[in-house]
Amino acid sequence: MLDNRPPLPPEIARRRTFAIIAHPDAGKTTLTEKFLLFGGAIQMAGQVRAKGEARRTRSDFMKMEQDRGISVSASAMSFDFREYRFNLVDTPGHSDFSEDTYRTLTAVDAAIMVIDGAKGVESQTRKLFEVCRMRDLPILTFCNKMDRDSRDTFEIIDEIQENLAIDVAPASWPIGSGRDFLGCYDLLHDRLELMDRADRNRVAETVRLSGLDDPKLAEHIPAAQLEKLREDIEMARELLPRFDRKSFLEGHLTPIWFGSAINSFGVRELMEGIGEFGPQPQPQTASERQVSPDEGKVSGFVFKVQANMDPKHRDRVAFVRMASGHFQRGMKLLHVRSKKPMAVSNPVLFLAADRELAEEAWAGDIIGIPNHGQLRIGDALTEGESLRFTGIPSFAPELLQNVRAGDPMKAKHLEKALMQFAEEGAAKVFKPMIGSGFIVGVVGALQFDVLASRIELEYGLPVRFEPSQFTSARWLAGSKDAVETFAGTNKQHMATDNDGDLVYLTRLQWDIDRVVRDHPELKLTATKEMM
Ligand code: GDP
Repeated sequence: MLDNRPPLPPEIARRRTFAIIAHPDAGKTTLTEKFLLFGGAIQMAGQVRAKGEARRTRSDFMKMEQDRGISVSASAMSFDFREYRFNLVDTPGHSDFSEDTYRTLTAVDAAIMVIDGAKGVESQTRKLFEVCRMRDLPILTFCNKMDRDSRDTFEIIDEIQENLAIDVAPASWPIGSGRDFLGCYDLLHDRLELMDRADRNRVAETVRLSGLDDPKLAEHIPAAQLEKLREDIEMARELLPRFDRKSFLEGHLTPIWFGSAINSFGVRELMEGIGEFGPQPQPQTASERQVSPDEGKVSGFVFKVQANMDPKHRDRVAFVRMASGHFQRGMKLLHVRSKKPMAVSNPVLFLAADRELAEEAWAGDIIGIPNHGQLRIGDALTEGESLRFTGIPSFAPELLQNVRAGDPMKAKHLEKALMQFAEEGAAKVFKPMIGSGFIVGVVGALQFDVLASRIELEYGLPVRFEPSQFTSARWLAGSKDAVETFAGTNKQHMATDNDGDLVYLTRLQWDIDRVVRDHPELKLTATKEMM
């Protein structure tokens, strides 16, 4: 991922599209809120959550989300900061929604990893980091909660380097922690940033310096702390990697900032970092060719579908990452999968918690397109070219259960509801070749609860999930003949997924190994690309 191509048009070059990854409670929501505050999208911290809660109380499903403290729904927010346009794509935090998170990360060019200064790298941080790594995403790190007692700075940096196998270059250096936390020394600009504890919405005071020997430092930092700071930085400069933009853009090195999101501290420096170092919107890969953001024609792909955002309207919003061109409202685009034109007359941009009509969008932007189910995850929209964007995976579910309608007369309704959630990417739905009913597959157990309450809430249909005889699913690939022959002789293990693709179901890894061994003409896969 390198910016050594010809310069992009300014409107595209100023865009930064990224996601925040964090272990629950590390401060992702707080940081998001401060981004919006500094981006001028909200006037006061607390609004994002306040709106979220007002919306949540509207349904039991959302209430469940609130009770369990999980952010189930993801959205995209756009705001300006200095000369930059930021597109922040929210990732669901809970591990049960990792598939959704994975797809979200296909739509961004970079990620911010938030860690808690007292806790360091936590389980979910690591998982999400691995997903970023698979895509070679550049990562910026924010070490949060420095106003609380935190670990030693070298220890935190070492832990990241060792646990995540990535070089860490300090962009700032904290001065003290907990009650003694004064602020940070900005290593990239030789500035002193001082935290204002009195006003949490205020940006910290900046003192420009000529370097670590500047006598002005002593006016702001007590002697003992200053001595430690000088020692630390000297050691850091000797032992730790320096920031290197190329290495960062390739995903081998992460710059780290220290701060306190709740005190608005360190946030502006982090935002400046995203602006200054990028990356700009990156080329997207389609099976036909690479799509460059500065191409004249518009193209984009759906990475997320959210149904029933407003239960009263039964609407669906497809989230589209613009891959190229300059989109204008009202444009007719080709929906590549159905080969049908589609007039995009009411696309939405998400500014803070409000939706707004998007009059235009550039490569790198995320727009929402309300629709009645035509748009599915992985779909491409173009100005006529038949493109298929790649890299949006579907994972084999790790848990399978049978699902039954509480009222057997409503089986047809149940099928409709299930298919809708399958298209949304919330679950896999399998129809066994033998017998009736459906098997639902998910990645995390909690998804069954979410599905059951959503089916009841949105379709008025009570359902029961019951243990299935199967525990694993694998997609089947190979020549048409080979696949059909195999399916014909293994009907009791076969099902079709919600796209009509054949799936092999079993409860034994041993079975899978045996099929792989005995049928070299077939391929069993745990992921498939959505198209
Ligand atoms: P999320 O689960 O990652 O979205 O975390 P939140 O943003 O909801 O923060 C979790 C908790 O940590 C909340 O109670 C926040 O008020 C608190 N918090 C966030 N940032 C800071 C910080 O810089 N310092 C302190 N002391 N608490 C913070």
